[in-house]
Amino acid sequence: MKAEFDVIVIGAGHAGLTAAICAAEEGASVCVLEVAPRNLRGGNSRHTRNLRAMHEEPMHSLDGQYGYEEYWQDLIRVTGGQTDEPLARLTIQRSEDSIDWLKQHGVAFQPPLSGTLHLGRTNAFFLGGGKALMNALFQAAEDLGIHVMYETEDVSLKFEAGQFRSASFTRAAVSQHKESCQVEGRAIVVAAGGFEANLEWLAEAWGDAVLNFLVRGTPYNRGDILKQLLDAGAEKVGDVRQCHAVAIDGRAPKFDGGICSRIDCVPLGIVVNQAGERFYDEGEDFWPKRYAIWGRLVAEQNNQVAYTIIDDKAQGLFMPPVFPAVQSDSIEGLAQTLGLPPSQLCQTVEGFNQAVASGEFNHQDLDGCRTEGLAINKSHWARTIDQPPYRAYLLRPGITFTYLGVRVDERAMVQFENHHDSNVFAAGEIMAGNVLGEGYLAGIGMTIGSVFGRIAGKEAATLAVG
Ligand SMILES: Cc1cc2nc3c(=O)[nH]c(=O)nc-3n(C[C@H](O)[C@H](O)[C@H](O)COP(=O)(O)OP(=O)(O)OC[C@H]3O[C@@H](n4cnc5c(N)ncnc54)[C@H](O)[C@@H]3O)c2cc1C
Repeated sequence: MKAEFDVIVIGAGHAGLTAAICAAEEGASVCVLEVAPRNLRGGNSRHTRNLRAMHEEPMHSLDGQYGYEEYWQDLIRVTGGQTDEPLARLTIQRSEDSIDWLKQHGVAFQPPLSGTLHLGRTNAFFLGGGKALMNALFQAAEDLGIHVMYETEDVSLKFEAGQFRSASFTRAAVSQHKESCQVEGRAIVVAAGGFEANLEWLAEAWGDAVLNFLVRGTPYNRGDILKQLLDAGAEKVGDVRQCHAVAIDGRAPKFDGGICSRIDCVPLGIVVNQAGERFYDEGEDFWPKRYAIWGRLVAEQNNQVAYTIIDDKAQGLFMPPVFPAVQSDSIEGLAQTLGLPPSQLCQTVEGFNQAVASGEFNHQDLDGCRTEGLAINKSHWARTIDQPPYRAYLLRPGITFTYLGVRVDERAMVQFENHHDSNVFAAGEIMAGNVLGEGYLAGIGMTIGSVFGRIAGKEAATLAVG
């Protein structure tokens, strides 16, 4: 099979489909190549729940006001300034119309979230979650006549004189034989995610520890397209070690466990390693601003495991995980079930309880209920762990997505080492490292995909069809 299109998009996640839709709306013929089969389509995007957007006034899906400057300060805080400022500012500015754009393309939103996640003002939640969002975008793409090809294996990009020319791949034909295919394009948008499912690549940064990592999302984001672009001279952005990784239930599957394996009770209790010792402030800040550091923290512990321990007072105050907790009426019993040294765990809990200073617990706020005098204090939500039954969850690092990617400019154009203009554009995880040098702000992954997907699709179409 051989075909020609104005714009080729690689990857049918949120960023890729956004780009494809925008390109088609500019009058371009568009083909999307997706390695996953149709029933597993939607990449990591199908696991998502929300998107962070600035807004000056309350909206249907967002409370109050979340202005440009506050968003910028939040981003600077979490990245420690490791961000490309013009691109980061562009992301924030263009986040404002992302919700309207999605609504216009069939995506429905929930009313603002209430409860302990503190996201009702900053993050708009997709009604029905990421799957519903992706189904709406696939429908919009279909309505525009966009050609989506599934199970496109071994996609190989061909460049001539620094310009993209064609993509070759194989595809399972009806008779089970693999069909060789080639599509030519005047411009390409790469939106094939990061390399979080490529454990061999991750091992370059993490060594054997990676064998104990769980991949929260799609097994198809292996970074093959990213590698080809870097080999073709695309400028690299970000560090191989930087990623979004959270602490998830150690019983989650190796791939695609999604959101339900996340453990959100860390700020309500303590976290210990296999030696039964605490290793970080569990109450440093609101959980949505801190959850993304815990994957790395657990990855740094022996055997890449840790245990979060709560007492009965914490029950009902956090999103219930899918797996039941290990439970006991004593800390010693809990230690025995978990295989932790009982005397050390009892000592850790007793020491923690004695260090809890008085204060009024309020899990909705930075309540200042803290410990005093410990080598590692807990800054907020510190309450004695003394009300059985005691519960614990085994934690492992769950990698969400990687930050190493291709450098882009404000047109989402991939920057090549010899500084020529190219017909290659990028959106989503594959370029997220331009904005996220380190750290994470809940919901900004989808914001980056929305903003750069729209820019990349429009720019690619403009180049292709004028
Ligand atoms: C469990 C989970 C929950 C999350 N929740 C949120 C959230 O609530 N809010 C938020 O902002 N972010 C969230 N994220 C992060 C978010 O998923 C990503 O930032 C976002 O989906 C990236 O979109 P994308 O289109 O770049 O990647 P993806 O959606 O992963 O799409 C990439 C696509 O490229 C395809 N592909 C890969 N390699 C190839 C190849 N060689 N050839 C062809 N196709 C290829 C993949 O199959 C995939 O379909 C979450 C991630 C996970 C895993």
